[in-house]
Amino acid sequence: MTTPEPTSPPTAPPTISIAIIGSGIIGTILALGLLNLPSTPTSPKLSIKIYEQSTSPREIGAGIGFTATARKCMELMDPRIAACITAVATLNGEPSSPDYSMRFVDGFRTFPTAAGSEYDTSDQDISVHGKVYKLYAGPRGFEGCHRAHFLGEMMKLLPEGVVEFGKRVDGFGYLGGGGVRVSFEGGEEGVECDLVIACDGIKSRVRELLFSPAYNAKYAHQLAFRGLVPMDRAIEKLGRHRALKQHMHCGPHAHVLHFPVAKQQLMNVVAFVPDPKEWDLRQGMTAPASRSEVVDAFREWGPFVRGVIDLLPEEMDKWAVFDTYDCPVPAYAEGRVALAGDAAHASSPHHGAGAGMGVEDALALVAAMGKVREDVGRGVGVGRALDVALQAYSKVRYERSQWLVRSSRHVCRTYEWEAPDIGADMDQAFADIRERSHKIWYFDVEAMVADVQKECRRLMQ
Ligand SMILES: Cc1cc2nc3c(=O)[nH]c(=O)nc-3n(C[C@H](O)[C@H](O)[C@H](O)COP(=O)(O)OP(=O)(O)OC[C@H]3O[C@@H](n4cnc5c(N)ncnc54)[C@H](O)[C@@H]3O)c2cc1C
Repeated sequence: MTTPEPTSPPTAPPTISIAIIGSGIIGTILALGLLNLPSTPTSPKLSIKIYEQSTSPREIGAGIGFTATARKCMELMDPRIAACITAVATLNGEPSSPDYSMRFVDGFRTFPTAAGSEYDTSDQDISVHGKVYKLYAGPRGFEGCHRAHFLGEMMKLLPEGVVEFGKRVDGFGYLGGGGVRVSFEGGEEGVECDLVIACDGIKSRVRELLFSPAYNAKYAHQLAFRGLVPMDRAIEKLGRHRALKQHMHCGPHAHVLHFPVAKQQLMNVVAFVPDPKEWDLRQGMTAPASRSEVVDAFREWGPFVRGVIDLLPEEMDKWAVFDTYDCPVPAYAEGRVALAGDAAHASSPHHGAGAGMGVEDALALVAAMGKVREDVGRGVGVGRALDVALQAYSKVRYERSQWLVRSSRHVCRTYEWEAPDIGADMDQAFADIRERSHKIWYFDVEAMVADVQKECRRLMQ
C-alpha cells in the first residue's frame, strides 16, 4: 500500500490499491474498466480487488435494459463489456425486424376497435390504445437482457482472484498516511488499500458509514408486481405485434409495462401500483404476491390491460420501490472513499436508467484514475492525485445523477396521470416523457470524460 506523499518523481512507479465493494453490475463494470486502462513505464500500477458479500456471483432473475448512452460508456471502458450485452440481449420486436421504439399508450380508456371486438389483435399500431406514441431510442437502444446472464458473461472477463466472495464489508477507518482499512463482518481479517469505491447498491453499508443512516434509501410507497408469461400464450391473447413489442400503458395512479425477454420466449410484465402501507427494508425488497392483488388494482382499466394482467401467473413476486429522493447524499466522495451506482444515487426504476447512470459513474471514475496515473507518473504524490480525482468525480457526476432520481419520480406521475398541468392529456404526457428521456439518452459521454480531466487539472493548481 502507498502511504507517503512524495513530491519528486518516484524512481519506480508505485502500485495504487483499489478496493471495490460489491460485484453487482456497476462494481464489475468498474473493475473491468480500470483493468483495461493503458499503462506506461512511468505510470503507477493499479491493484484491483472486489469484495462481495455473496458467496458466488449473484443477480436477480429479472430483466434490465441499457440505454445507448450506457452502451457507449461500456465501449469506451472496454468493448468486451458491451459485447456481453449483445450476447445475451433480447431484441424488441421480431428478431428478423427489430423495433427500436418504445411505445406509450393510454391503458385506461376503452377505444372502439375496427372489428368491434373487445380489442384488436392485428399487427398494427391501431385502435386498441387510441393513439400510439413511439419514442425512438436509437439503434439497439434499450435492449432488454437477463441480469444474471449479463453479469455471468462479464464475470468470465475478470482475471482469476480479482473478486473475493463471502466478504461483507462492515466498516472502514483511515490510516495515518491517508490509506483506508476496510473491515469485514464475522471477524474476517481486514484489508488496507489506497482507495475504496463502494458499489454496494441501494442498501449501501458504506454510504451509511460515510454519512449516516439518515441517508438510507426510503420506501416510495409503490409496489412493482412482476411476472413472466410464455410468449406463445401472450401472442395468442394479445396478437404478435403487441406481445413482441415493448409497451408502457399509462392510466390513473398506476401503470403497466411489458417487453420481450429470453430471446422472445417470454413476455416480462411489470405492474406498478401505489401502496399506502410501510415496508421494512430488513425483510428484503421483494415478497411473494398473487395475481388477484394485481387484478384488483386494474379492475377499472381498459380491456387490453386487463388482458395482460389475466396472463400473469397465479403466484409471482412484488418488489418494493425504494430510492434516495428524500435523502440525497451531500457528495459522492469523502476522503479516500467514493460511492458509485445505487450506493450514490438509488433511483426508482421509471426511466429504466438507474444502472445506466451507474455505468456513466464507472466511466467517470476510470477517467479520473487515468488522470491519477498520468499525474503520479509526472511526480505528483499518490495521495494528492487521488484526493483530486475523487473530488472531480463527485463534482462532475452529482447533478445529472441526482436529477435522474428526481425525474424518475416525476415521470412516474406523468405515466400515472398525476403530473400537474398534464393529467390525463396523453399528448402532453408524451411530450414530457420524450423531453426527459432525451436528456438521459442524448448525453455527450466524451464531454463528461473531458470535464473530469479538466476538473482534475483545475483542482491540482
Ligand atoms: C424494478 C426495477 C427495474 C429496473 N430496471 C432498470 C433498467 O431497465 N435499466 C437500468 O439501467 N436500471 C434499472 N434498474 C436500476 C438497476 O437495477 C440498478 O440501478 C442497478 O442494479 C444498480 O447496480 P449496483 O451495482 O449499483 O447495485 P447492485 O446491483 O445492488 O449490486 C450491489 C452489490 O454489492 C453487494 N454488497 C452489498 N452490500 C455489501 C457489503 N456490505 N459488502 C460487500 N458486498 C456488498 C451486493 O451483494 C451486490 O452484489 C431497475 C431497478 C428496479 C428496482
